[in-house]
Amino acid sequence: MNSPDVIIVGAGITGCAAAFELSKSNLKIEVIEKYQPASMASGWTLAGVRQSGRHSTEIPLAKYSVQEWPNLVEILGGDTGYTQMGNLRLARNEEEAITIRNLVRDQEKAGLDIKYLNENKDIKEITPALSKKIIAASFCSTDGHAEPIKTVQAYKTAAERNGVTFSNHEEVLKINVKSNRVSSIRTSKRNIDTQTCILANGIHCNSLLKSLGMKIPLDVPIVTVIQTEKTAKILNPVIGVANADLAMRQELNGCFRITSGVQKWGGKLEEKNSLPYAATSLEKIHFTIARSIEVIPKLSQCSIKSFWGGLIDLTPDALPVIDQIKEYEGLIVASGFSGHGFGIAPAIGGILADLTMKDPPRLPIDPFSFYRFKKNNNLKEKENEPTLHG
Ligand SMILES: Cc1cc2nc3c(=O)[nH]c(=O)nc-3n(C[C@H](O)[C@H](O)[C@H](O)COP(=O)(O)OP(=O)(O)OC[C@H]3O[C@@H](n4cnc5c(N)ncnc54)[C@H](O)[C@@H]3O)c2cc1C
Repeated sequence: MNSPDVIIVGAGITGCAAAFELSKSNLKIEVIEKYQPASMASGWTLAGVRQSGRHSTEIPLAKYSVQEWPNLVEILGGDTGYTQMGNLRLARNEEEAITIRNLVRDQEKAGLDIKYLNENKDIKEITPALSKKIIAASFCSTDGHAEPIKTVQAYKTAAERNGVTFSNHEEVLKINVKSNRVSSIRTSKRNIDTQTCILANGIHCNSLLKSLGMKIPLDVPIVTVIQTEKTAKILNPVIGVANADLAMRQELNGCFRITSGVQKWGGKLEEKNSLPYAATSLEKIHFTIARSIEVIPKLSQCSIKSFWGGLIDLTPDALPVIDQIKEYEGLIVASGFSGHGFGIAPAIGGILADLTMKDPPRLPIDPFSFYRFKKNNNLKEKENEPTLHG
């Protein structure tokens, strides 16, 4: 069997979107996944697809992606559960109203079509179920959400149709280099010769960079996620809040998916039913439920279907690393999405294909350089919070 030209480590949305984009070339592509597709952040996620609330350097990626999302069903030939009903970011007090007003001003400057609503009745016109206590909000009508597992599966199936091979339940253990370029990789099952390796393995990125003497400064906090049983449809947009301690959406099937903000996590990633599992606590669940009922009082009547912890690959500036590593030709990194890499996956997949093909990236990626942390070593820990999702 011929060796693959490109190995992608990780079958989350990043790896699968890159695989699909690269499947349009005549390169031989293989994706290697330790568990199964979408078994980590891309399955744990809230799956908001938003431009609003993003750092100005990410807005071009988010806008590009929002152009792509409505067409993905046709392009991929599979369902994504995408719906474009907006994103409301709420202010629960005067201080939060100032945060939201400033956010809207900055984002308008960055060219986003976003409104500031400062009357409860205008906000409730969009979502009548919201509490009377919400005093202001931003609304970006072109934001939305999708079904994460369906989307990853749709990317994977489309890539497979174009000849990409997926190997699940196989862990990449080491990247071997020769004369400053990628030469092969070692997995839990075999050695594979290849010239190009894309690291799309989320929080585990450093485990493969380490033996090359490199790392991305990553924190790994947890986000608590609660899913309710199906209930009557009362929420169309994705909800976020000014200080990022809550986000939620109602899935198309009627279940609510509710997430906390980032919370400190000192735990150990375990395995349950042969899948990775990060335990959250009653305290974190309690906090998240209390916040959600403050915002939508009717949620107090919903039954809980499930809950889980989702780990975040958080960089010091809460921006991703998307780069070709200069020291080793053929080594490309895409990690550190800091809790908002789902919505921009169409852009990221395209950019990773550009980097692999040595084409100029279709969108600016200088702010996402692997080397920025060395230059900017006065970044304080504080700068990576809050990270917004939803
Ligand atoms: C609770 C939560 C809420 C979020 N909400 C949003 C949101 O609303 N909007 C948004 O845009 N983003 C959101 N995000 C972030 C978004 O989900 C992630 O940024 C995105 O899914 C990252 O995808 P990925 O493919 O880069 O990483 P992952 O999905 O983590 O995929 C990495 C894959 O690599 C595999 N892997 C790891 N190491 C190896 C190895 N050595 N060998 C082989 N395979 C390996 C893993 O098993 C995994 O499947 C949220 C994240 C969480 C956790």
